[in-house]
Amino acid sequence: MSRDTALELAVDYFDSGHFRDDLARRVAVPTQSQDPASGPIQREYLATQIIPDTERLGFTARIEENPVSPAHPFLIAHRHEGDGLPTVLTYGHGDVQLAHPDQWRDGLDPWRLTIEGDRWYGRGTADNKGQHTVNLAALEQVLRARGGRLGFNVKLLLETGEETGSPGLPEVCARLADELRADLLIASDGPRLAAERPTLFLGSRGCTNFTLRYRARVGSHHSGNWGGVLRNPATVLVGALATMVSGDGRLLVEGLRPPPIPDSVRAALGKIEVDASPGSPAIDPDWGEPGLTPSERLFGWNTLEVLAMTAGDPDGPVNAIPGEARAHCQLRYVVGTDAADLEPIVRAHLDAHGYPMVEVSVQHRMAATRLDPEHPWIHWALGSLERTTGKEPGLLPNLGGSLPNEAFADVLGLPTIWIPHSYAGCAQHAPNEHLLGSLTREALQIMAGLFWDLGEIDRVP
Ligand SMILES: [Zn+2]
Repeated sequence: MSRDTALELAVDYFDSGHFRDDLARRVAVPTQSQDPASGPIQREYLATQIIPDTERLGFTARIEENPVSPAHPFLIAHRHEGDGLPTVLTYGHGDVQLAHPDQWRDGLDPWRLTIEGDRWYGRGTADNKGQHTVNLAALEQVLRARGGRLGFNVKLLLETGEETGSPGLPEVCARLADELRADLLIASDGPRLAAERPTLFLGSRGCTNFTLRYRARVGSHHSGNWGGVLRNPATVLVGALATMVSGDGRLLVEGLRPPPIPDSVRAALGKIEVDASPGSPAIDPDWGEPGLTPSERLFGWNTLEVLAMTAGDPDGPVNAIPGEARAHCQLRYVVGTDAADLEPIVRAHLDAHGYPMVEVSVQHRMAATRLDPEHPWIHWALGSLERTTGKEPGLLPNLGGSLPNEAFADVLGLPTIWIPHSYAGCAQHAPNEHLLGSLTREALQIMAGLFWDLGEIDRVP
């Protein structure tokens, strides 16, 4: 029994077709969480696709009701091996984005796993069924390699509402904080930095969506009869936006700018390139905060984006001053930003710049998280990935996008390590979603190696 045995078993699991079979039956359950009628399907997924597999591995599993959104239940499972052993919490989500089957290319069905060369198509293959299937299977192979032992305790939390903003996840973590107590989180979601580069990330940027709106008056008014004496809401709104973000993308709202990039984060980002694979857009070198590298601007800084804006009817303009104008905006931000106070900060900013008439309303917020790249668990995990693959893994302090990591990092207070098993071109959330077979085969080895190494630790760092 050795680490190599665990890795060989993981490869066998893939090469023998067992991974394909496990993934195919999971993809076949249409767990679209944005469909309000999907509650029974989410339950079915947990009850038929996950619970029997975890019980086979010696877990005690149950479905936990969601206190915020009943249609999106959780699965909680435990496998306790010994009191003095390290305990890992792992996480995944069983739900998927709406599939829109008619938009998939001919020959593909989102609910049927279809393999074409290295691409394995199906809704949820990349996000997140393929990823949690890899991690559960790696646990199983380590158990076999050690003759029925892992050498650590495992807790599993699977949610079914991630694609609707993880309703109830922080609440359930707070309520079950004792039960979910662990030494660290190891979970998988999202893309690698590049398909061939094993990657580890430690959190994600936060995200707050908000609307700016100026309602000047009811209805529009003829621009010939009134132009020059009526304030134009579109002009006012554009002026207000220009005080918040410059024409070359620099965030100007003082209270929403991030603290200086910590040295350890800057050092990690120095080894990372922004994705430049075929199909990715060419980045603009002169956009955003001056003096930062592209990876610092994307992963180490904040950005204010205008997602959509409207005044009048852009598809049928008339000669009139519109009655109102609206812009839907988003702040993506790193740890250390006071985004919980975004509304009063933007309000004060607009007032100070002469725009008290522009209303601010905040819709949705996801917190920023980031474990210190110098944390001892990170050295341990990087070493494990390197030992398994012979490659230098990419260390990303936080994803540019957002993940519900707040529940683990802040509510449960865990060091959080994410090991993604997908890549940027996977079409996650879009038609023709797929995983890469070659990447998945490597991911199974990575996770088997990592879980093997966790069982060898005699002292939690
Ligand atoms: Zn997703």
